[in-house]
Amino acid sequence: MNSKLMNEPAQILLIEDNESDVRLTQEAFKDKRSIHQIHHVSDGVEALEFLHREGKFKDAPRPDLILLDLNLPRKDGREVLQEIKLDPELKRIPVIVLTTSSADEDVFKCYDLHANCYLKKPVNMDEFYHIAELIENFWFKLVRLP
Ligand SMILES: [Mg+2]
Repeated sequence: MNSKLMNEPAQILLIEDNESDVRLTQEAFKDKRSIHQIHHVSDGVEALEFLHREGKFKDAPRPDLILLDLNLPRKDGREVLQEIKLDPELKRIPVIVLTTSSADEDVFKCYDLHANCYLKKPVNMDEFYHIAELIENFWFKLVRLP
């Protein structure tokens, strides 16, 4: 296991505006062993406020992993990704793009902007559970996080 995680739970920031996807993701990542905690924001502006610990997010933890939807109100996920990856304080945080879009244009753009990986959003609860388990096993057990 990742050495950091032996001491404290990993912090996941979920940036997602669709309420049912938020519920499915939270349910799929529900964690009884306190390996991680999920924080949720529902638009791009709030996402950057959380990451910069502004306003009501002044006590927000630094995320260990970000799950980013692309189509978001107020500030688009592509812009959020760009701002994260251009910011020396934030750019090391792995960003998993999780979106309904499977357009090549979006895939290329996200990797060009240094997304760490691009996943198509699951369409049902079983797939959400499956992807959550794969993400946990890979990002929190195998990968050495910064
Ligand atoms: Mg959306």
